[in-house]
Amino acid sequence: MEVELIDPAVLAPAREVLSVKYAERRVRRSDVFHDYASYGVPDGWLEMDYNFWVIHGDDGITLVDTGYDVAARDWLGEVPVTSPPECLELLQIDPASVARVVTSHFHYDHIGHLGLFPAAEVVSGGREYDYWFGKRASGALNGEFTTEADLAVVQRAEDEGRLRLVREPAAVAPSIAVHPVGGHCPGELVVTVQTANGPLVLASDAAHFYEQIEHGWPFFAFTDIDEMRDGLALINRMGKEFGATIVPGHDARTRERFPAAPGAAGKVAVVLA
Ligand SMILES: [Zn+2]
Repeated sequence: MEVELIDPAVLAPAREVLSVKYAERRVRRSDVFHDYASYGVPDGWLEMDYNFWVIHGDDGITLVDTGYDVAARDWLGEVPVTSPPECLELLQIDPASVARVVTSHFHYDHIGHLGLFPAAEVVSGGREYDYWFGKRASGALNGEFTTEADLAVVQRAEDEGRLRLVREPAAVAPSIAVHPVGGHCPGELVVTVQTANGPLVLASDAAHFYEQIEHGWPFFAFTDIDEMRDGLALINRMGKEFGATIVPGHDARTRERFPAAPGAAGKVAVVLA
């Protein structure tokens, strides 16, 4: 059965949406697209950016993801560019003033700095929580794409009554809706933001690159490949049904498609809306 989508028209436009880059990596297309040889197209390099997103709304600042400390540990050969705390400084955002963090999922590169935001409501996928906290409880985090320290910060938010788990499509702020999808991980949240120029879909790792949206190509890392295809289909429905602009999570070409933010922020951020 098809998931019922939340129509972004019910949301109030956000004032500004930024994509913020903190690290990068160069990858082979054949390394990141599952079963790439079957497509019969030449191999080549892709520039992979590591991003988080900032939504300025009438209810304050929402971050989608928080990046991680690349200088402390490069998991896959990531190259640090501007650390997330430094990015926030350039954007003139005081972490204590952030109202909400939506975690797209619990991988290291998306929740590493979650502890910087002690006052924020944390919105996460219920299935994502169940999966990782199940592994944590059974001591099975070794070799996984997240750590005990990362999950302990989620735990702290829960203990403090700041964690909101989402299991169905939901509006989580005046300008923001989330749709849970599986695939790359069990409980990814695809984030929709209404803007004055129409809706934006922040796909995060439900679609790392534009090719995945255009051709339906699964990413190489998945917990369920059918759910990954369903997630890509859901994102494309948002484009078709609501005219949404889709922003993949790790594609460097986003920085060519949108203008740099004004002033010092332009060093790290492009304006999506
Ligand atoms: Zn990622």
